[in-house]
Amino acid sequence: MILVAKPQIDEAEIEAVSEVLRSGMIAQGQRVADFEQAFAEYNGVDHAVAVNSGTAALHAALLAHGIGKGDEVITSPFSFVATANSVLFTGATPVFADIEPEAFSLDPDLVAEKITPRTKAIMPVHLYGHPADMDAMRDLAEDKRLLLIEDACQSHGATFRGKKVGSFGTGAFSFYPTKNMTTSEGGMLTTDSREVAEKARMIRAHGSAQRYLHEMLGFNLRMTDICAAIGLVQLDKLDGYTAKRQQNAEKLTKGLKDAGNIVCPAIKEGCSHVFHQYTIRTEKRDDLAAYLNSRGIGTGIHYPIPIHRQPYYQELGYTDSMPISEKASREVLSLPVHPQLAEEDLDLIINAIKEWSGNR
Ligand SMILES: *Cc1c(COP(=O)(O)O)cnc(C)c1O
Repeated sequence: MILVAKPQIDEAEIEAVSEVLRSGMIAQGQRVADFEQAFAEYNGVDHAVAVNSGTAALHAALLAHGIGKGDEVITSPFSFVATANSVLFTGATPVFADIEPEAFSLDPDLVAEKITPRTKAIMPVHLYGHPADMDAMRDLAEDKRLLLIEDACQSHGATFRGKKVGSFGTGAFSFYPTKNMTTSEGGMLTTDSREVAEKARMIRAHGSAQRYLHEMLGFNLRMTDICAAIGLVQLDKLDGYTAKRQQNAEKLTKGLKDAGNIVCPAIKEGCSHVFHQYTIRTEKRDDLAAYLNSRGIGTGIHYPIPIHRQPYYQELGYTDSMPISEKASREVLSLPVHPQLAEEDLDLIINAIKEWSGNR
């Protein structure tokens, strides 16, 4: 079976973790500080705050900006549910704007329509590793004096006009095993604001900057040195992984150029795409998925139900239709693109899809 995602853990990570375990200092310590510094440098931001998941990074980012009850945050319904959940955690209201159909990210015109006096932030998602339109997002945010919080959980190292995603506003990254780099579970908040970073550090540790002095309600969102040790090794490998993902994607797109009934991923002007997912569209999605799976090729659907259609969000009263997201959720299919694929794997995938499209 060719898996749709596969984390790459080698001796270097095992050695780094063993070193931490042998040291006896296994909670948040020097490794976390080192990882934060390296990640901040990599992304061209002043501060990075490590937490224990991408969800925690989004949650802490919103709280560190003082977002809460009565506030609205405009975000995409075509994402993993954690994007909108992080807004609900704070007591604020997620407001969905529909996406544009090429890169599946927030449509700036539709975002503009959703802005009200209660809107505090826009939260674009750099879905599949492709940057959202950050020119438009930044213009909107500046024009309407809104915060920009980027869900960069799928887009480590992606750039928009040469600038890393997660450095336009406050960024949130995930290091879940299937992401472009991993710490097992983990996340990171990125910001140029010292104030936001300091507040996020307090939120991460029970609202405390000084031991046993609690100035606000916080949580336990800390990363361990065990995870940070993995992250330091993975960060060194990230650009190599990304180059491999991009080569794999290029080969897939070239190979599939004459296959009918499918649309390959677009790369918009000014964007670098780090291909967390290589996601095609086809009106016969379920048929193609079954065909590929029967030939030993794993696929994924990201995501089969847009967030506003999830049962919990229906209960909350999200009844507006988001036609572009809903159509995308019926048509998207992610193919294997991870760095461990061999040339033969890619050939097999290409040939299977061409065979399928020739017979449909
Ligand atoms: C993975 C992911 C998250 C959540 O990250 P976790 O580390 O799993 O908590 C949030 N948003 C998006 C778009 C993601 O892909």
